[in-house]
Amino acid sequence: MTQTTLAALATAPHHRRNPLTGDWVLVSPHRMQRPWQGQVDAPPGAALPAHDPACYLCPRNPRAGGATNPDYQGTFVFDNDFPALLPHTPTAHASEAPWMEARSETGLCRVICYSPRHDVPFGRLPPEAALGVIQTWTDQVRDLYARPAINCVQLFENRGEGMGASSPHPHGQLWATSQLSNEVDKEDRAQAAWYATHGSPLLTQVLDFERRAADRLVFENDLWSVLVPFWATWPFETLVLPRFAAPCLTDLDLPQQRALADIWQRLCNRYDQLFGTPMPLSCGLHLAPKASPHRQAWQLHAHFFPVLLRSATVRKFMVGYEMLAGPQRDLTPEEAARRLRGDP
Ligand SMILES: [Zn+2]
Ligand SMILES: [Zn+2]
Repeated sequence: MTQTTLAALATAPHHRRNPLTGDWVLVSPHRMQRPWQGQVDAPPGAALPAHDPACYLCPRNPRAGGATNPDYQGTFVFDNDFPALLPHTPTAHASEAPWMEARSETGLCRVICYSPRHDVPFGRLPPEAALGVIQTWTDQVRDLYARPAINCVQLFENRGEGMGASSPHPHGQLWATSQLSNEVDKEDRAQAAWYATHGSPLLTQVLDFERRAADRLVFENDLWSVLVPFWATWPFETLVLPRFAAPCLTDLDLPQQRALADIWQRLCNRYDQLFGTPMPLSCGLHLAPKASPHRQAWQLHAHFFPVLLRSATVRKFMVGYEMLAGPQRDLTPEEAARRLRGDP
């Protein structure tokens, strides 16, 4: 195979490898000949009320499970009324054929309301309230990691009806499990293998390179950076990385928490500006699993997976080839970063 530069591949179909998972994404930049519309749609109709009597997440309202929410002022965390996981599940293994393997799982699912306000998304919370969300996440991880049965905590948010969010009230979730999730397990192994070979964390080296190259960097504050990863699969996917060593959320000091809240808010707002509509997305944090023997190889990071492709109504679907073979994109990550930066 001929050695070439990335620039030389920029207009030809090529695969890019995700070093966190080992997966490949097919990039087809030659299909992007159509001019960029930059279509901005009018914001969706009716404004939300500050408090919705029918919302099961607003203060003082009844929930489907029968409980009533307190008159909370900051964040509010409760166990999901219809959890996918249950605590105290006995450990068991089943296999009734050589190819068949099932393992019991113990854990819990929680909902985290960001504020009492039904109508204020994370990006528009007062800075102190945004910091409060980061600190609530941190307290949850610390509390859950103290439990013997819990090894992996996944914090995430589904935003927008199209993403399966059950309520417009700004909130996220956490699912805590005994076993590592598929993605965290892959990233744990990949970062450990990288560290063993190169002697420093994979994501530290990625960020050092990307800050010099600058073409996939979106923006930064004094402690955190946002970039479109070289291996992004969703059109405007980003990675949020610290510019200091921190395997887990519980390693952050107050200034680092403040700066994370700031960059998270700015990124949410940037996404909403891109097509002039609240961007439907899933996002969440990957942290070192509690029992990982590879903590020094880990860097805490957040993934943002927004689904819009060209406008408020044209979204990317992962279907067909993607389901059967692997992810594919037309827009290059470099072009996506340029548009997210708002470059002319
Ligand atoms: Zn509400
Ligand atoms: Zn990750």
